[in-house]
Amino acid sequence: MTEKKLRIVLMGPQGSGKGTQAQLLGDYYHLPYISTGDMFRQAVKEQTELGKKIKDLLDKGELVPDELTNALVAERLSQPDCQAGFILDGFPRNLSQAEFLLDNFDIDFVFEIDISDDEAVKRISGRRVCDCGMTYHIIYNPPQKEGICDRCGGQLKVRSDDQEEAVRRRLQIYHEQTAKMIPFFQTKGIFYHINGEQPIEAVNKDIVKIITEHGFDKN
Ligand code: ADP
Ligand code: ADP
Ligand code: ZN
Repeated sequence: MTEKKLRIVLMGPQGSGKGTQAQLLGDYYHLPYISTGDMFRQAVKEQTELGKKIKDLLDKGELVPDELTNALVAERLSQPDCQAGFILDGFPRNLSQAEFLLDNFDIDFVFEIDISDDEAVKRISGRRVCDCGMTYHIIYNPPQKEGICDRCGGQLKVRSDDQEEAVRRRLQIYHEQTAKMIPFFQTKGIFYHINGEQPIEAVNKDIVKIITEHGFDKN
């Protein structure tokens, strides 16, 4: 067992493969995969108080207010399963969330998985997801049996916010707000750029290589 905690943030435009890589890294390092998008979608599905407040924002591809998002993440990262580390996907999304995160938690690596907007739109249009958290692509990463999750046998679905308008809005927000966090992370010495326009395994290798070079072992 490695003694070191491993706390990773994945950033990158929609469709860059954050969820896909987070699953792989989570399995490899035995760390929880935390996606704010998944947590918000779950809240909408369960029609919780939070879910009712944020449903319209999610459908339009707009960001949920920082106070709600920060509180949700802080609560989740404080749970026992995050003590050895975690993989965060979809948070932070703007400078104020980034400052909140680093004020309250230590982060070892921020990986930006980068792809062009054209590639992003191609990927999102073929994305299929399972309630268990697995993500597939009808061409690039198909399940063994069409429409069925390899891991749990669940029925695969198109995400309701994977509509072209909402995707374009999310890409615009990414370039306007999310990418602005990069200089902040660079000054902290924790930022790494990853070429996302490679096969899934090659992207994974690039990330694991950097983690290994910094003396973090597999659990
Ligand atoms: P994608 O990366 O495909 O845009 P996510 O699953 O990360 O999708 O997020 C889905 C939606 O959840 C976002 O469009 C936004 O409404 C909300 N969301 C997720 N993470 C955050 C965050 N850190 N801050 C504010 N809103 C968020
Ligand atoms: P994000 O979480 O960044 O929005 P996902 O992991 O959901 O991205 O990936 C978006 C879509 O692209 C999914 O259908 C996924 O299977 C596919 N995908 C992920 N990584 C790659 C890759 N390196 N090459 C081709 N397709 C990919
Ligand atoms: Zn599944």
